[in-house]
Amino acid sequence: MDAIGTPEDFRANGYAQQPAERRNALQTTLKDEISCTGRGLHSGAKVGLALLPADAGTGIVFRRTDLAGQGAEIAARWDNVVDTRMSTTIGNAEGVVVGTIEHLVATLAGLQVDNVIVEVNGPEVPVMDGSSEPFAFLIECAGIRELDAPRRVVEILKPVSVGNGEKSAVLMPGAGSTYSFEIEFASGAIGRQVRTFDLSNGAFRRELASARTFGFREEIEAMHASGLARGGSLANAVVVDGSRILNPEGLRFRDEFVRHKLLDSLGDMRLAGHPLLGHFHGYRSGHALNIELLRRLFADASAWRLVETAGQIAAGGSAEARMRAARAIA
Ligand SMILES: [Zn+2]
Repeated sequence: MDAIGTPEDFRANGYAQQPAERRNALQTTLKDEISCTGRGLHSGAKVGLALLPADAGTGIVFRRTDLAGQGAEIAARWDNVVDTRMSTTIGNAEGVVVGTIEHLVATLAGLQVDNVIVEVNGPEVPVMDGSSEPFAFLIECAGIRELDAPRRVVEILKPVSVGNGEKSAVLMPGAGSTYSFEIEFASGAIGRQVRTFDLSNGAFRRELASARTFGFREEIEAMHASGLARGGSLANAVVVDGSRILNPEGLRFRDEFVRHKLLDSLGDMRLAGHPLLGHFHGYRSGHALNIELLRRLFADASAWRLVETAGQIAAGGSAEARMRAARAIA
């Protein structure tokens, strides 16, 4: 069993230059347990979060430590998603739920952690700063290690799409794991933004992790008036008011909005239960449509297969070329 170290070690050792086959061949988990405390987006209440190492084949499993019994565990999978209105919530037959899982799951996908038990002592994952950055920091502190089992991925075998002209989401075959996203907002602060992302080149930490979620002032005021998003504030979201950004610190990236949509999509697609081998394209899509895309994919047994990756994941190739092909399908 080979320890592969933190992302800092990767950079220091030139790890990112090693062949993708080597990097992607084995399943991973955390070297050590790690925890933090934050506030829930919905309730505004304090919640404790702990990430625990797990055996190969476990996947990403959430556990409610404030509730006893077997029913308190929920796998982070599309078929356990019970709500996508404000954030992604998973639940089980006993009615146990865990909300706001999306940015933590995106971080685990982005840093290629296959197996982890996520303990929370309340009904939602803390929102932190509205990005993946604090979770990425936690995982780097814990460290990542390889397990003695080949990584399994869901290979896309044919194009699958959902939506209409207004919004759409597409999965397409392709070597590597690449993503593209386009948004168009009337707000002058956002406008039209297009961006691609390649999971295999280790760019998650640099390009997506710190991109925050965003909302519009009038929507947030309406939610607060209805008692929703009680924990939501300028500390955990970019708030847009017409052509203005209300956060005094401004944006972290000029195109922070589309970067966050890529981050969300990476987390949503990880709810396939395994990393995806193929290309995702979103056009003004969101959690609800992305989960519908996974339902459509898994409803067609000829559209996917589960494969072990030893030697199979190559560099992603041109995500731009794939985006052009995906646009033709959408
Ligand atoms: Zn998000």
